[in-house]
Amino acid sequence: MADQALDTEYVQRRRAMVEEITEMAGELAPTYGGAGLSPQVLDAMLRVPRHRFVPEDERRYAYQNRPLSIGHNQTISQPYIVALMTDLMALDTGDRVLEVGTGSGYQAAVLAELGVEVYSIEIVEPIARQSAEMLQVLGYERVHVRVGDGYQGWPEHAPFDGVIVTAGASHVPQPLLDQLKPGGRMVIPVGEAFDVQELLLITKDEAGHMHRQQVIPVRFVPLTGGH
Ligand code: SAH
Repeated sequence: MADQALDTEYVQRRRAMVEEITEMAGELAPTYGGAGLSPQVLDAMLRVPRHRFVPEDERRYAYQNRPLSIGHNQTISQPYIVALMTDLMALDTGDRVLEVGTGSGYQAAVLAELGVEVYSIEIVEPIARQSAEMLQVLGYERVHVRVGDGYQGWPEHAPFDGVIVTAGASHVPQPLLDQLKPGGRMVIPVGEAFDVQELLLITKDEAGHMHRQQVIPVRFVPLTGGH
C-alpha cells in the first residue's frame, strides 16, 4: 500500500480504537466512581500515532485495544489503560509529570499532547535510546528521557504535579511520594510481580497528607531495579 493510503488507514483505525475505549470507559467508570475520559485525553489519543511506537511486524495490530510486545520482554500498555491513567492525573497545560517506565514512549507522547512537560525514566538502556529517538523524530520536545532506576524518581526536576508508574510495584516508592507536589496525583499499579496488581490513585492534599483509592485491577510487567 502507498504510504499515504496507509496513513489514512491508520487514522481510521485510530478513530475506531478511540471509540472503543470511550465505550469501555463509560462502562467501567461507575465501578470506581469515575466520570469517563475527558475530551482532552480522547483528543490526545486521537493524535498520537501508536503504530510508530511498536515494532514494524506488530504495526498492523497497533490500533487494537491491547498491549503488544516491544522486545526485551517488555510491552506497550493497552490503550484503554494509557487513557485511564492519563485521565486520573487530571493534568493542566504546563504541569510537570514524572513517568517511571518509558517503554515504547507511547504513554509519554500521549501526556505531551496535553501540553505537559514529561520527565520519563527507563531502566533498560536500549529501550530508552530507541524511544527517545522516536519521540524526537515525531517532534515530542516536551518529553525528556533518561536511563535509570525510576524508583528514586528524578529529584532535579521535582516536585511534580503528576507521577505515573507504568510497571507493577510491590509497594509505593517513598521517593516518588516525596517528589509529588501538594495537590498532585500519582497513579501506580501495586501488587505481586507477574500477577494482577491494583491500580491506585494517590492524591497528596495541600497539607501533605496522602489519600489512596483503588481504581481497577491491572496487569503490568514488574518494576525492576535494585531498590
Ligand atoms: N509506558 C510504557 C509501557 C511500559 S512497560 C509505554 O507507553 O509503552 C514498563 C517499562 O518499565 C519497561 O520498559 C521496563 O523496562 C521499565 N521499568 C521496569 N522497572 C523500572 C525501573 N525501576 N525504573 C525505570 N523503568 C523501569
